Amino acid sequence: MSKKKIWILGNWKMNHTLADAKAFFERLSPAPHGVIAGVALSPILLGALSNEQLPIRLGAQNAYFAKSGAFTGESSLDQVKEAGADFVLIGHSERRQLFGESDKIVSEKVRATLAAEITAVLCIGETLQEREAGQVFTVVSRQLDKALAGVSSFENLVIAYEPVWAIGTGRAATAEDAEAVHAHIAEHLKGTSVPLLYGGSVKPTNLAELIAQPHIDGALVGGASLDPTSFNALMEAAQ
Ligand code: PEP
Repeated sequence: MSKKKIWILGNWKMNHTLADAKAFFERLSPAPHGVIAGVALSPILLGALSNEQLPIRLGAQNAYFAKSGAFTGESSLDQVKEAGADFVLIGHSERRQLFGESDKIVSEKVRATLAAEITAVLCIGETLQEREAGQVFTVVSRQLDKALAGVSSFENLVIAYEPVWAIGTGRAATAEDAEAVHAHIAEHLKGTSVPLLYGGSVKPTNLAELIAQPHIDGALVGGASLDPTSFNALMEAAQ
């Protein structure tokens, strides 16, 4: 059997100026063979970097589903694609919790992103309260069902399982706990070959154990994606 490809996607959130971003890319190594690497930026940084030759892919952290119109403050999929995004994060827990993004909006975004031929990285995951109530599989299944309603082709889809309690806390899920949820997601998406990434306090030191699990195909990384030495170490550990 051929070795699985490993995805390392960074999420810079609202961090880094253009000068920081340029300094980052100057010190970044190319993605090694078998590793698909990228980083999701603000649309401002994306646009400013769109003519640069960069060693990894660029993505957007958000884009609105409508083609154009009166949606103050939003960016369209055509706009982020033109600015160089080849993937878009959809339904990150910060979007859901801080900006009121509902399952319905997430679903509209998934369909519009796939229609625009951009890779849709759909983020799902339970809160601590839901985990403690034994609802992990129910929550994840519901999020998948709602987000993927009406989706007929899964070709440009990636799922990021990000337990909310593990994001930015330094408390990653154990490889066994993450694998149990990934196996559940894989069963839910049986018959597709959708890559399944884990996110939540991934570091160069815990990545190898996570991707050694049969249903974990890579990671979505916040804090540890900001520094080029750390990003290089993540790509190294993914090999
Ligand atoms: C994220 O923002 O998607 C994330 C996983 O953050 P962190 O790696 O910092 O937990």
